[in-house]
This record gives sequence, C-alpha cells and structure tokens, in this order.
Amino acid sequence: MTEFKRPDGRALDEMRPVEAKVGIVPNADGSAMYKSGDTVAIAAVYGPRKMHPQHQQDPEKGQIRCTYNMMSFSVSDRIRPGISRRSTEISKITEWALEPVLMLDKYPNTVVDVFIHITQADAGTRCAGINAASMALAHAGIPMKNLVTSISVGKLDKTLVVDLTKEEEDFEEGEGPTDIPISMTPDGKITHLQLDGKIGVQQLKDVVDMAKKACEKVYDVQKDALKKSIEEKQ
Ligand code: UDP
Repeated sequence: MTEFKRPDGRALDEMRPVEAKVGIVPNADGSAMYKSGDTVAIAAVYGPRKMHPQHQQDPEKGQIRCTYNMMSFSVSDRIRPGISRRSTEISKITEWALEPVLMLDKYPNTVVDVFIHITQADAGTRCAGINAASMALAHAGIPMKNLVTSISVGKLDKTLVVDLTKEEEDFEEGEGPTDIPISMTPDGKITHLQLDGKIGVQQLKDVVDMAKKACEKVYDVQKDALKKSIEEKQ
C-alpha cells in the first residue's frame, strides 16, 4: 500500500487543498463555493417557493430540486452546453444525498431549488457540488438536521487513495481504477455512495473509514466558512 506514488506527491489519505466561501451570489437566498484542488463548484439556493409545475406539488412537504451543470469551459475539451445523461444523474444523486438532512415538512407544496455550477473540473465535481450545496442550504436558512459532506475515494490497482484527480481517475494499470464518491453526515450516516468499478467487501469498509476521516476535514472547512459569513454580517 505504501509503494504507490501519487502523481501530485500527496499521501494516500491526503485531500487536495480545500477552500470554501459562503455568500457568493447576492441574488440567491443562500450560496457557497467549494474548491478542492482544481475542482471548483458554486451552489445557489432559491426557496422554499411554490412548486411549478403545480402537479408536482406535495401537500405533505416541500421538495428539493437540484440542477448540476458543468460549464462549457470547465475542462479543456469544451463541454456541450445543456442537459446530458451525466448531468441528469448527478442532479438526482445530489438530491438524494441532501434530502435526508432537510426538514421540509413545514413547507408543503414548495420547492427548494439548488443550482450547482462547476466552473473548473478536475474530478470529484459531484462531491464538490454536494459540499457547496450543503453550505448554501444552511446559508439560505433551510432547516437542516446536519450538514452533508462528500468525498471521493478511489482504488488505483490495489491501493486506496482519497480525493482523486482526473489523472488518477484515468489510471489504467493492473485492475484499473475504481471510483467511490461517498456523502455522509458528520455523525457518519451515509446518504450517498456510488461505485464505479470493482472492490471487495473488506476493502469497501476501508474505503468508508478513509472517507469518514476526510469528511471530518470537509466538515471543519464548511463550518468555518459558515461561521465567517455570520461574523462578516455582524
Ligand atoms: N469530465 C470531462 N468531460 C465530461 C465529463 C467529465 O472532462 O463531459 C472530466 C471532469 O474533469 C470530471 C471528471 O471527468 O471532473 C470525472 O467525471 P465523473 O463523471 O467521474 O464525475 P466527477 O468525478 O466529476 O464527480
């Protein structure tokens, strides 16, 4: 396990440099930026507001609706603007990752819209988007049981590494790469896990442990950014 050298020289359990800022879109009810290395996500929250189209209203509770978008210039091969299968999938899993912490029963017939834009992409964009969205929801004052934190853990051949870059995601030696984005609450409840590749049960447990440790750091960064935004207001 210690033999493997990461292209950017990081330790196996070391995340990329992280930055977060809350309150970056003045017109939104809540907003945030989360940056991990060269991956940058911004999230803007609007609502709760009346759900349109009306037939989608739920009289029992409010709903979250996420829209993930990778900007055309976020990678060097320009991305075709508009909805794709990939963006539809990531929008949906982002909703599922965040929904368990939201307390929307007091807002029947409404929707909380979360727009996530990836301005720069070097892998881990869904995780960065979830981290930004979680802070933006808190900033918007949406009642939440907790924040959601997200990180990707990868198995490169047989070695586990945290917070993969695109170069690492494309690693093609031995068994090839396995990418496992995981989202959880700070008390360790997993709200989202995807597995692209192959992994054994024991190693998957190690992956979850590694993700938990990294998510503790993500949580600290999110909390600091939220505190800072409150201090700046005062
Ligand atoms: N990517 C790209 N073009 C695309 C989709 C993805 O260049 O149309 C790159 C981008 O750097 C992205 C990475 O591939 O971050 C990994 O994408 P994946 O679908 O695995 O999701 P992510 O790791 O970003 O959550």
